[in-house]
Amino acid sequence: MMEIFFNKFYIYIGILIIVNIIVIFVLIKLLMNKKSKEFNNRINDTNDIFKSTMDINDTFNKVLENIHKTIAYDTAISVSRDNNDFKLIQCRGEAEGLDLSNYFKEIKCSEIIKRVIDSATPYYIKDLRKAEYTKYNTQFHLLLYHMRSLLIIPIIHKENIYGVVIILGHKKSAYNQAMRANAISFVSGVAVAIENAMLFQKLRDADKMKTDFLSTVSHELRTPLTSIIGFAEMVKRKFEKSIVNMLDVEGEKNKNNVDKIRRNLDIILSEGERLSSLINDLLDISRLEEGKNRLNMGVIDIGEIINNVITLTNPIIRDKLIQVVLSITESLPNIMADGDKIMQVIINLISNAIKFTHEGCIVCSARVSGENIIVSISDTGVGIREEDKKYIFKKFSQVGDNLTNKPKGTGLGLAICKHIIEVHGGQIWVESEIGKGSDFSFSIPILRPEI
Ligand code: ADP
Repeated sequence: MMEIFFNKFYIYIGILIIVNIIVIFVLIKLLMNKKSKEFNNRINDTNDIFKSTMDINDTFNKVLENIHKTIAYDTAISVSRDNNDFKLIQCRGEAEGLDLSNYFKEIKCSEIIKRVIDSATPYYIKDLRKAEYTKYNTQFHLLLYHMRSLLIIPIIHKENIYGVVIILGHKKSAYNQAMRANAISFVSGVAVAIENAMLFQKLRDADKMKTDFLSTVSHELRTPLTSIIGFAEMVKRKFEKSIVNMLDVEGEKNKNNVDKIRRNLDIILSEGERLSSLINDLLDISRLEEGKNRLNMGVIDIGEIINNVITLTNPIIRDKLIQVVLSITESLPNIMADGDKIMQVIINLISNAIKFTHEGCIVCSARVSGENIIVSISDTGVGIREEDKKYIFKKFSQVGDNLTNKPKGTGLGLAICKHIIEVHGGQIWVESEIGKGSDFSFSIPILRPEI
């Protein structure tokens, strides 16, 4: 009887122990999952912070601000690296009052940091008191004297090391493997952010170089070209007024020669003008890209501007079977904009419409739509192919084929229009059907947003 009782007792005890073990195991698992979720959320949060900046210094500055979310420290130091130059970026915690900048500048790199850079792997010392090679002869080493745990993580992406993050703790063995893995994962996210910021900076520098080059070259070309056009005009005037009058233009030979000289002078002048407008467009676009072409804001009446542009176009359409009409059916509010720039856009769109329309009608309209005024210039010209629409607002994009026999231009007009409209907070777009015509529209906010 007693034997049976003891047997059952042991079985119950055994079951109880197994159940307890299972419960503890499940609890640990749940806790670990919770921790890992929390960590992932923190990593996502910090990734978002880094995504929001494309500035290298800003990214570096944010490292220590955020690393404490993944690992606790008594002191943290971030150091950037540019070739073999090291620069102290920030100290947090107990190192905040110490001037460590000279340490990183002069000695360039302590042996421990150098070791991390050379091996491109994190380095962890559980107990600094047992690290026999530490010499306490600098401020940095003095700091180490008060610490026991040291973790150095390289800011590395692919093969590029952008610096290191130094984490120090008072306690011996302060950072277990999981903590170290968390911090390493965070720092590798920082490295990606720094790499992106560097690539962005390179692109910006290259773009600036190109813009500076364009602006200088265009400027240098404009001066001699003005002389060429001016002298060609003078020669033409003199030729018409003095030389033609002295010649016997009734004679066949003289008449032919005079016609030939006249034609050639006209070519010099028209090509000169074309080159001059190309240079002006180039200067315009490089200034717009540099942001030099500041807007000169004022109250403008867009209907009046369109009307003035239509009057200006009269001499150009005289030889064509086209009509340019204004269609504004409602009263439009005045808006705040740069009148000259908006006029430049309308001139560009109307002259394109005239250029690409052989016969028919060009209708210029404006209306209020929600918070914007929409201006449209529609024509009955050659039209634009669906696949070409995405190119025409890009710089130097001239589209078309031999069938449409499009006249030559600079391919910059629409890119300039897009730029001008966008700095006003609006948009520009086109609807078109090949052979039937095009409808270019742009919107301008009635109340100008803060830019
Ligand atoms: P361009 O000085 O060559 O006219 P734009 O930037 O003003 O440069 O125009 C780019 C291209 O868009 C033109 O070469 C032409 O192919 C097309 N395009 C512009 N406006 C029209 C239009 N109204 N009708 C047909 N094609 C047009």
